[in-house]
Formats: sequence, C-alpha cells, structure tokens
Amino acid sequence: MHVVVLGGGYAGVAAVRRLEHLLPADVDLTLATDTPDHVLQHELHRVLRRPAVANDLVVPLTQATDRTRIRVATVDGLDRENRTVSLSSGTLAYDYCVVCLGTQTAFHGLESVRERATPVKRIRHALAIRDEFRTVLDATTGSVRIVVGGAGLSGVQVAGELAALANAWDAGERTTVTLLEQRSRVAPNLPARFGEAIASTLAETGIDVRTEATVTGADDTAVELEGDGAIPYEQLVWTGGIRGTDTMAADRPRVGPDLRLDEHTFVCGDAAQIEDTTGQLVPASAQSARRAARTAATNVARLIERDRTGTPTDTAELAQFHFTSPGWVVSVGDDAVATIGSRILTGNPAKTAKAAVSARYLLELGERRAAARLARLEVGG
Ligand SMILES: Cc1cc2nc3c(=O)[nH]c(=O)nc-3n(C[C@H](O)[C@H](O)[C@H](O)COP(=O)(O)OP(=O)(O)OC[C@H]3O[C@@H](n4cnc5c(N)ncnc54)[C@H](O)[C@@H]3O)c2cc1C
Repeated sequence: MHVVVLGGGYAGVAAVRRLEHLLPADVDLTLATDTPDHVLQHELHRVLRRPAVANDLVVPLTQATDRTRIRVATVDGLDRENRTVSLSSGTLAYDYCVVCLGTQTAFHGLESVRERATPVKRIRHALAIRDEFRTVLDATTGSVRIVVGGAGLSGVQVAGELAALANAWDAGERTTVTLLEQRSRVAPNLPARFGEAIASTLAETGIDVRTEATVTGADDTAVELEGDGAIPYEQLVWTGGIRGTDTMAADRPRVGPDLRLDEHTFVCGDAAQIEDTTGQLVPASAQSARRAARTAATNVARLIERDRTGTPTDTAELAQFHFTSPGWVVSVGDDAVATIGSRILTGNPAKTAKAAVSARYLLELGERRAAARLARLEVGG
C-alpha cells in the first residue's frame, strides 16, 4: 500500500511524522513537495529586519522525517477518481492521500494591487520587502509611506517588523506604516480581546491602523479605498487573504471533522476550510494545521487497518477533529501580545511565550541550535 502526503509545510510534516508512527512498516509513505526544506512560515516577518534569521527557519525534510520517501517536485494535479498525483517529474499512485498544499495569496481580483504589491509567503518575499524598503528610503530624504493590506496574523506582524526596521535604519521619524483591514477589527478570525490588545500595541508602536477599510485598487502612487478614499504610498505589501493553490483550482474545499474529501483522500491545514466537531470553521494557522494533520493521519491509519482486516467500510470509526487552542501569540516589532486562556499578556511574558512556541517546534524537529538562536531573538526583541 502507498500513502502520499502532498506539501511539506506544518500540516504535511505533522501528517508524515504521525503516519511514520502509526503505519505498519510495509506501507510505503511518500511526501511530495516543491522544496527540500520545511519553512517556518509563521516567523517569516522576522527576516525583514534580520535576514540571517532565514537560515534558522529552514529545516531539511530529511531531518524532520524518518522513513518517509521525500519527493521534491511540483504537484501539478490530483486525479481523485484514479487515485494518482501528477508531479513535475512523474506520477504517483496512491491508496490514501493527504493534501496539505497550503494556500496562495488572494488578491480578490484586484489586478492593480497584485501588480504593485509584494505578498509574504516565502523567504524571498520577506527579503524583497526589505530591499524595496531600503530602495525607497535611499531614493528620498522626505517621508516614506508603507501600506500593508490585511491585518491577520501575517499583516500585523509584518507591519510591526517594518516599523521596527524603520527605527533600526534611523528612519522611524520619516516612515509611516499604515495597516488596512477590511473588517471591523485587526486579527478578525481570532478572539476579540486578543485583537483589541494587538490593536493597542500596534498603536503604541506608532502604526496607523485603519479598520473597515476596503481596498478597491491601486495605482503607482496610492491605494484606493471603497468610498472614494485613497492612501498614498511608496511601498505596498499585501497580506489581504488566502486562496487555494492553483493545483486545487484555487479552491479551499470545506471538510468536516474527519477531514475527508472522499474515501481515499484527506485535506488539512490551510488548504481546507475545516469545520470541527463544534461546527465552527477553524482559523487558518500553523497551530490548527498541525493539529488537524494528526487527525487526518490517524484516520488514514485506521482505514488501512480496516482494509487489511476486511472490516466493512461503514464500521470504520474515524477520529473527529476538535480544535482547542492553548492560546495565540504574535510579535509586534520588539513587543509581543499573547492570549493564554482568558489572560492577555504583553511585554516580556508575551515575548517569552512567543520564544517558547517557536523554540519548542524547532526542538521537535531536531534543530537545537536554531531553537536557541530564535528563542534569544524573540526574547531580545
Ligand atoms: C508572516 C506570517 C506570520 C504568521 N504567523 C503565524 C502565527 O503567529 N501563528 C500561526 O499559527 N500561524 C501564523 N501564520 C500562518 C501560518 O504560517 C499558516 O497558517 C501555515 O503555514 C499553514 O500551514 P500549511 O501546512 O497548511 O501550509 P504551508 O505551511 O503553506 O505549507 C504548504 C506546503 O506545500 C508546498 N506546496 C504548495 N504548493 C505546492 C505544489 N503545487 N507542489 C508541491 N508543493 C507545494 C509549499 O511549498 C509548502 O511547503 C503566519 C503566516 C505568515 C505568512
């Protein structure tokens, strides 16, 4: 039998690690993904200010996994009927597949924004944003306005890092970072009190936060807002949404708590809109991606066990995903905001929480030195 996992992000790595543990040794396990490394996307914003951090955000997949066969290739298509995956370098047949391809940045049909804005999905994007900022600063002695579109987990942290980078380059006085959010508050998919605390910290950092601001387009000098408003900019960054990958025809299929797309295919992580046992949609995030992937892996292992023992299909008991979050934490430049249970933390306790989350994750993947360096950076600001 052959189990194939697509995508080597948080969900894909968590899925193969759980499958390595659960599957009988004679079941083949392949991870097909487009880079040989797992990238800690949730820390990408740190690369804006400290490019060297990028080295600590990259974990070779051969190290993060054990007996899994790593196939570095682009997934071009998924034929669920025939249970095959088309790769840039061949085809894979599968008995069970777990789709963990993540997302691409959504521009919501705003072509004028897509042409002018830099998204934040890969390390190269973070490096490009840093270079663009340096270029606009060097081109003028006057004021520089940076607009970040979208105030989710990525937008909030990118805005914070850009403001801190402006200070580090002695350009804080002449740089304005404006963070735009279409909905009525920042971090709209996360607990309301957490969003309020983030908004306060962003304001203290000097970031101009505008909610209920819907971007309708951009030209070379200004972002257009619904209702005739416009915000002039020298640099435009876009973190305004996610969509399914091209491989999934831009779709993020909606699945229930068993994470099943069909009899033989599962989907989890940001690639799916996941409704857990409460009937609520789970927020797209690294932490939910990892948890859902473990449920999907458990279900694949149960179905293989069922196939081998010949138990009728309808008696297979599948695990049901129930998302419980221990809390959330974001950095805002040299500060941080965390919510743990009903408590909101800022300052050193929040920075320590942020350091612990990333360091623990790197340690799990065997990256002791990188874990120590990242923890020092998070606590130090
Ligand atoms: C700046 C930033 C800060 C963030 N901060 C946080 C945070 O503080 N907390 C939090 O929980 N979340 C945070 N997030 C969100 C988090 O990173 C995502 O929710 C998470 O990466 C989703 O995991 P995933 O495994 O579903 O997808 P991904 O991590 O995107 O993994 C998808 C994988 O599939 C591969 N892939 C995609 N398409 C193909 C293809 N066609 N062929 C082969 N391989 C392919 C990709 O290369 C990648 O390895 C942040 C995101 C950003 C950008």
